[in-house]
Amino acid sequence: MKKYFFGLALVSLFIIEGCQFESKQTTNNENAIDSTVALPVFNEDSSFQFIEAQLAFGTRVPNSKGHSACANYLVEKLKQYKASVFVQEGSVTAFDGKKLNIKNIIASYNPTNNKRVLLCAHWDSRPFADQDSKDQDQAIMGANDGGSGVGVLLEMARLFSIQNPNIGVDLILFDAEDYGQPEGSKFPSMQDSYCLGSQYWCKNQPSKGYQPMYGILLDMVGGENVVFHQDEISRTYAPAAVEKVWNAAAKAGYSSTFEYKNSPAIIDDHYYINTLLNIPVVDLIHHDESSNSGFWTHWHTHADNINNISKKSLKAVGQTLVEVIYSEK
Ligand SMILES: [Zn+2]
Repeated sequence: MKKYFFGLALVSLFIIEGCQFESKQTTNNENAIDSTVALPVFNEDSSFQFIEAQLAFGTRVPNSKGHSACANYLVEKLKQYKASVFVQEGSVTAFDGKKLNIKNIIASYNPTNNKRVLLCAHWDSRPFADQDSKDQDQAIMGANDGGSGVGVLLEMARLFSIQNPNIGVDLILFDAEDYGQPEGSKFPSMQDSYCLGSQYWCKNQPSKGYQPMYGILLDMVGGENVVFHQDEISRTYAPAAVEKVWNAAAKAGYSSTFEYKNSPAIIDDHYYINTLLNIPVVDLIHHDESSNSGFWTHWHTHADNINNISKKSLKAVGQTLVEVIYSEK
């Protein structure tokens, strides 16, 4: 993703210094479960490997070989980690007129539990490098933009397979998020050209009346020195979820990553889920106030590769998710 609704201007209405809490982590990263505390330990090495595994298929652009091979890998992995997996297949039309065969991959834990939380990310990678100075027509690797969110969620799945959460959890890997129309494209302007997979899912709900308590979207969560701010869509539609996630981050010792600052509205998968389904979803997306785009500095360039993924960032996000999910009773 994605685009700010209000250009590049940043409006920071208030800044609250997050309190520093002592981290709960120990040095045990050999095993997922640390017996000295109630919470599982998110393993950033494992999460990193899940990103490498996706990148080993090459770029994951819909209708490509890498895309289809990676889908199989993701389904297999989630089944291995004891999830009930459902693949929603569909066809959507992109801004360039192409029909894209998409797969939204849905993995559920404790499927009969009515108390549920949705964790999601997009798994496709962008077909262009429109923010790069060269090879703009070549697909990007999407280590961060796509790969990182999935890498964190696969590690969550591994933890769920070892320590079952008290609530139901649905992991949804959305397809075709990043096939959005580049600026200056020769095709007629298309509204809502990003997030095609999540839009499809919203309009074609696989299970009727699906209503998790809230959702958390991960997008570009693995860049160096990742920082999250509270975007206007999340604040407007999912204020309680924002509060919950930021509090959990502080508790887990990551208040320097989850800053109490506002950022402008972002069109990302959460926008459609919030507005079309009324499921409150908060977006965790790297917000860089110093970059021209407002996003991670390598956004939509060929530098979005494995060399620019930080295990420390994966850990901050993953351990925060652990704190959120395992605190639910
Ligand atoms: Zn993107």
